[in-house]
Amino acid sequence: MSHRVAFVAQKNYEPQSLERAIRRSIELCGFDLAAAHGARVLLKPNMLGAYPPEMGVTTHPAFVAAVGRIFKQAGASVSAGDSPNGVYPLERTWEATGMRAACMEAGLAEERFEAGGSVTNGGLFIARAVLDADIVVNLPKFKTHGLTILTLAAKNLYGCINGMQKTRLHRECKTLAEFAEVVARTAGIVKPALTIIDGIVAMDGNGPSAGDLVDLGVIAAGTDVQSLDAACCALIGLDPKELDTLAAAKRLGLWDDDERIEIAGDGLDSLRPKKFTLPVTYTRGMRDWWISKFVAARIWSSMRAQPVIDEARCVRCLLCIDACPVAAIDRKAVDSVPLIDDEACIQCFCCHEICPQKAVDIKKSRALKLFGWLSSLRTRRR
Ligand code: SF4
Ligand code: SF4
Repeated sequence: MSHRVAFVAQKNYEPQSLERAIRRSIELCGFDLAAAHGARVLLKPNMLGAYPPEMGVTTHPAFVAAVGRIFKQAGASVSAGDSPNGVYPLERTWEATGMRAACMEAGLAEERFEAGGSVTNGGLFIARAVLDADIVVNLPKFKTHGLTILTLAAKNLYGCINGMQKTRLHRECKTLAEFAEVVARTAGIVKPALTIIDGIVAMDGNGPSAGDLVDLGVIAAGTDVQSLDAACCALIGLDPKELDTLAAAKRLGLWDDDERIEIAGDGLDSLRPKKFTLPVTYTRGMRDWWISKFVAARIWSSMRAQPVIDEARCVRCLLCIDACPVAAIDRKAVDSVPLIDDEACIQCFCCHEICPQKAVDIKKSRALKLFGWLSSLRTRRR
């Protein structure tokens, strides 16, 4: 079996050219828009928190509006929504991300996942709005992620788990592999009919909210979540085997990496960025090196990256305290910066993700730096 993934060049969010480019990506990846006629279509953008569009953290509202118009013209009734991070007031997130304005402009219904409740499926609380839709269209932002390296098609669907249940799962997953399996299972339950990734302005470095903006100029579309993620890895020169969410999907039998991926559209070579920096938590080749697995299993505490608060940047908003699933952050003293308890920290990087000031850095331990150096020597020799 083969899956088609379309890559279409698009330099900006100008509404008319954007709509043409998105329509082209939909056609090229083989999704039949006629299937949307009379259907209830739910758009699932990335609405992480109250970040304005120019920060490149959330799916651009012009992107969501353009997809909405396309599906409305196809005869669907269209809504858009997400379950954003609970530390920002919900209405502020709708406002700041521009998603409210996008819905008004394109005539889309606003869907607040928490308001509709959830349905339990395999221990996961999936938003009822997602399961009630005839067609889910997944609209991720192309970004790096401190925990999962990248957040693309599969990781964006983690937002289909309602509210604080996401925090609970972070707390319960003891390893990255376990968390990646939750992401893969969620994607397997939601099974979006179509995913269109906003990679026009992407984020590299220490994403998903504190990285650097990259003019990637890409729209990526596909009907198979994992094939699309694997193709996006190839675009930035990352071996898909290094992506934990893909490895988890394979382990769970949700994806077969032997299946062929057919690339359509403007192709990978012309769109490949000269440079795309992965987060400091990533070390090339670490995931398949038996020594790293052996050492990590035994002396993990000295091998990990840790969040560190930059006191000069911190504005003492204390949002990171609310975001921490294991209560590992506390106020040092009145009017002072929060303090992270390294022993209690489980390296989920939710504090890094949520900080509006980019004041939570991720620091590698010396052991991890040494390991990265050894690993780079090894992979260079291959
Ligand atoms: S580290 Fe960030 S989120 Fe935490 S208190 Fe400081 S500014 Fe706020
Ligand atoms: S301190 Fe930050 S990285 Fe550590 S557990 Fe809390 S939220 Fe996660």
